[in-house]
Amino acid sequence: MLHEDVQLLPFTYRVMPQGFLVVNQAGEYLWLSRSDFDRLLSGNRERMGELYYRFKGKHLVVDDDDEELAVEMLATKLRTRKGYLKAFTSLHMIVATLRCNFRCDYCHASSSDRDRADTDMSWDTAKHVVNLIFESPSPAIKIEFQGGEPLLNWDLVEETIRYAEVVNRFAGRNLEFVICTNLTMVTPEMLTFCKKHRVSLSTSLDGPGQLHDLHRKRRDGGSGYETFRKKLDLTREYLGQDGCSALLTVTRDHLNRLPEVVDHYAELGFNGVFLRSLNPYGYAAANLNDLGYSPGEFLVAYKTALDYIIDMNFRGTPFVEYYAALMLQRILTPFATGFVDLQSPSGAGISGVIYDYNGDVYPADEARMLARTGDRKFCMGNVLDNSYEELFHGRLVQDLVHKSCVEVMPGCATCAYQIYCGADPVRYYAESGDVTGSRPDSGFCQKNKGIIDHIFELLLRNDNRLNNLFWAWITSRNLKDMEL
Ligand code: SF4
Repeated sequence: MLHEDVQLLPFTYRVMPQGFLVVNQAGEYLWLSRSDFDRLLSGNRERMGELYYRFKGKHLVVDDDDEELAVEMLATKLRTRKGYLKAFTSLHMIVATLRCNFRCDYCHASSSDRDRADTDMSWDTAKHVVNLIFESPSPAIKIEFQGGEPLLNWDLVEETIRYAEVVNRFAGRNLEFVICTNLTMVTPEMLTFCKKHRVSLSTSLDGPGQLHDLHRKRRDGGSGYETFRKKLDLTREYLGQDGCSALLTVTRDHLNRLPEVVDHYAELGFNGVFLRSLNPYGYAAANLNDLGYSPGEFLVAYKTALDYIIDMNFRGTPFVEYYAALMLQRILTPFATGFVDLQSPSGAGISGVIYDYNGDVYPADEARMLARTGDRKFCMGNVLDNSYEELFHGRLVQDLVHKSCVEVMPGCATCAYQIYCGADPVRYYAESGDVTGSRPDSGFCQKNKGIIDHIFELLLRNDNRLNNLFWAWITSRNLKDMEL
């Protein structure tokens, strides 16, 4: 029997110059013209005509006969997308020390002088941290050492890794270690240890020498770049070409020079770059007038750099822009993509957590920065005083989860990109004094919306070569292999 009226399932949409982009609750999308969008809204099967089957295939409409099955299928897809929530906290960042041999203009950690040993984490605190980490139910645990420069407290890093491995003999988790370092103090002995214990390194690279040194300043006044290059080679000798990844911080001085930065990353043998905008914390907040830029200025630079990277791939150099790759994965595949900085509810506390040198626990690195400036709103407690339940099931984390679901947040609730995007309650608080934030004034929102708009524009070109490149990025393959 043919029912004239069908039921609309919840969806969001965005009006673009190219038409109406309609997105269902599981992130599947459809481009519609104005008149086809009106047909959808009519809820009338006869008016929908042949389009009815497309609408049904995208879970935009349902009729009485299959309502239960269709809703169950949509729920399954949504559950798959949100799969990262099952594991609970898997990223555990440990601040081994606040000391650093650098004092970068944009440092989030507000690092301290090399002789400030009172900002080193003690062995007793580190042991408490590791014991607490293994109370997390997550089957995968990543322990990331941060600073300051964690290599300045190398003995603690080494002991903590050994201890975590012992604990893990009983816990049986998929355990991973990363050390975030400027590399300049790395030694063959450290690298031998890292190789043996399968520790990978993550470093900072801001471009060719002059640009790298511009805001990354040694406390002793010299250039860090030459040492960085030598130590990168040394690191690769021990850990292999992919044993050390690099992270870029885009300052005002980078905006017109991103292609140059991209070339340099490729020259040094990195497979890609994450074009990461500046976050307004720590020294970066104090130096915002010199380092900062508007979301619009960032977007212009981002699009130019992305075009450059796409062209570079077409010219035969495989290279990935990781933020675009993440978004493409979210737009084009049904899978869960855990990325603590961009998920709903926010990953703060429930996906990632940071233990300060004194044992204070924060749901995100940015929360630690706020505490450094005197605002301890996001301090979850201390590993020496509080139990796992008090820290992770306490009111603070519950409140962050409640208030960071984009599906119900003002502005986000009706946004077509909510399933691809996420919330950053700590940043919202830093910007507006409120963890829910205000979307029209949010640089975070403007940046994400602008990037996702651009990616949809690229997808709309329906260019075979470009689509192959995007799938190569999503599946970590070579464009050449995709074109065979
Ligand atoms: S932050 Fe902005 S782009 Fe992201 S879901 Fe909310 S309104 Fe949409």
